[in-house]
Amino acid sequence: MMLSKPGLTIQLVQMALINIKRLSPEEEFPDLSLHNNHMAKILTLNLYKKLRDRTTPSGFTLDDVIQTGVDNPGHPFIMTVGCVAGDEESYEVFKELFDPVIEDRHGGYKPTDKHKTDLNAANLKGGDLDSNYVLSSRVRTGRSVRSFCLPPHCSRGERRAVEKLAVEALGSLSGDLKGKYYALKNMTDQEQQQLIDDHFLFDKPVSPLLLASGMGRDWPDGRGIWHNENKTFLVWVNEEDHLRVISMQKGGNMREVFTRFCTGLTKIESLFKNKGHEFMWSEHLGYILTCPSNLGTGLRAGVHIKIPCLSKNEKFGEILKRLRLQKRGTGGVDTAAVGGVFDISNADRLGFSEVELVQMLVDGVKLITEMEKHLEKGQSIDDLMPAQK
Ligand code: ADP
Ligand code: MG
Repeated sequence: MMLSKPGLTIQLVQMALINIKRLSPEEEFPDLSLHNNHMAKILTLNLYKKLRDRTTPSGFTLDDVIQTGVDNPGHPFIMTVGCVAGDEESYEVFKELFDPVIEDRHGGYKPTDKHKTDLNAANLKGGDLDSNYVLSSRVRTGRSVRSFCLPPHCSRGERRAVEKLAVEALGSLSGDLKGKYYALKNMTDQEQQQLIDDHFLFDKPVSPLLLASGMGRDWPDGRGIWHNENKTFLVWVNEEDHLRVISMQKGGNMREVFTRFCTGLTKIESLFKNKGHEFMWSEHLGYILTCPSNLGTGLRAGVHIKIPCLSKNEKFGEILKRLRLQKRGTGGVDTAAVGGVFDISNADRLGFSEVELVQMLVDGVKLITEMEKHLEKGQSIDDLMPAQK
């Protein structure tokens, strides 16, 4: 065996190293000429040269950070982010790339800006929306467990360790929040599909954005969903983030949904702390998540709302922009709306507190409902046009 001859082994390794001598940055620089994502806008050859030899303590490199953006040029009208973090340190080690991406994506958020958190639902004003229009209400966020690599980079064992921690911690929730964990690998295809169709569970990793980032490796190992009995409080384990915490219910009572979200999330955080695990957080970036677009609060408060008249109006896009809201189809991101039903949610994540973002959604949806009612009666909405928030 080779092991008995260390001299020969070293010689072979040296020969191999000579053969795989690294090529120059010019030879390795990706062709980004047709790309429309934030990373591609910022990554120049000079920046690539500067960052290429850096690595985070867990071994995440610049090429790992940008792979998803290289493989997915994006769409001329849809600007994607084009980069991900592999661990908590990624945002610091590659800050020359991430800082401008964050600034671009989060409306001018500067490297010196500080994020604020407010998870006190009592600070929300109003929040009971018109259930004749609002079919369901939902608030979600992500959380990452400190000292584990993030989904694009974690090993199988790390992913399973995060899953085990989550199951143990969530097992201590009681009362209305008492629930059970369902591992994907123990579900039938039919059970899984039913949960997806009912809007409770994440989709399989079919999106090229997810696949190219490495988040789909080893699927479905270590993934699953935990939820309470009536599926109003749910936690996704090891999808795009270690944890995605969700509060949702039918109808328009966003206040109730947000209150449950804050209570549940705060309990989960202390359960993890009791087991010696903090969530990744910094004063500047807020809660640290896999995709730079989710940094800060990670919060998306949204409603499924039936607005067949307003959604056909030429001012719909402008109205959403002024209210700092975004639209999706009800099948999740990248899906088209069916029958005038849209997923309307806050567009921002960073630079506003959780309460401020939910307030923006609540106030905006109230106005949108008012506009829909006007249009139903054939009245103009000109007087209702909001100012830019
Ligand atoms: P996320 O931002 O949580 O990743 P996605 O757009 O990927 O959201 O959607 C995930 C799932 O959550 C989808 O099945 C979607 O229909 C469901 N969903 C999102 N918002 C709502 C809502 N307000 N009411 C009911 N289901 C929702
Ligand atoms: Mg999603």
